[in-house]
Amino acid sequence: MIWIDTHTHLHEPDFDGDRSEVLQRAQARGVTQLIDPGEDLAGSQRSAALASQWPGYFAACGVHPHESGALQEDWIDELNLLLDHLKVVAVGEIGLDLHYTFSPLSAQQPAFEAQLALARQRQLPVIVHTREAEEETLATLRQAQDGSLTGVIHSFAGSASFAKACLDLGFLLSFSGIVTFKTADALREVAAWVPADRILVETDAPYLAPVPHRGKRNEPAFCVDTGQVLAQVRRTPVEVLAQQTTENARRLFRLPQQEVGFGESR
Ligand SMILES: [Zn+2]
Repeated sequence: MIWIDTHTHLHEPDFDGDRSEVLQRAQARGVTQLIDPGEDLAGSQRSAALASQWPGYFAACGVHPHESGALQEDWIDELNLLLDHLKVVAVGEIGLDLHYTFSPLSAQQPAFEAQLALARQRQLPVIVHTREAEEETLATLRQAQDGSLTGVIHSFAGSASFAKACLDLGFLLSFSGIVTFKTADALREVAAWVPADRILVETDAPYLAPVPHRGKRNEPAFCVDTGQVLAQVRRTPVEVLAQQTTENARRLFRLPQQEVGFGESR
């Protein structure tokens, strides 16, 4: 079985001590490709640099809503340059977060819109973070959708109506360890009916470790645990779920079809 962890922050210092071992453990469970999204320009650059070291390692570059309050004037040009890197497959993670509002909405909104426009211009998919901002996120995505915008709502934890609206806009939904949590019955109901060609799996490591690893540092190997729960919920054999999510990830992010993995660190 082959899996793709479509959202895993392996460039974070949490993994500086044992990144190679983490990648070996992922490969041992069939996770042979992953996408590491940046949260700001420096993180995006680290992710892109790491991506050039392993064939199965891909990067996304973007500015997270939390970081959108502290941007230099020419940040979008710098981001545009980062997107030239060969292993960068998406703009992300970008979006709106009205739960923490570490940055005010007045900073989040223009940063989100600018990055959606850049993604369209560069013909790259987007990785969207949204928390307690369903209406605002939908309005922004609707505005940006000219028929060419593709992307995923990552670590989906929203309502059924939000899920439907995102699917209508052409987006995929990606499920993290949250879907394995005891209290997540409503989310499991959503995960049960997402169309088979619109579902992805991710860890969001180092955060949100799935059951039975809850509370520990999360890592790409654990996306298999989330995949097993998704298969159960959807009454699908786990092999089929693995194949569907892998095909969906390769199609959205235009990843190579080979099971390249993390064997040959350069
Ligand atoms: Zn993330």
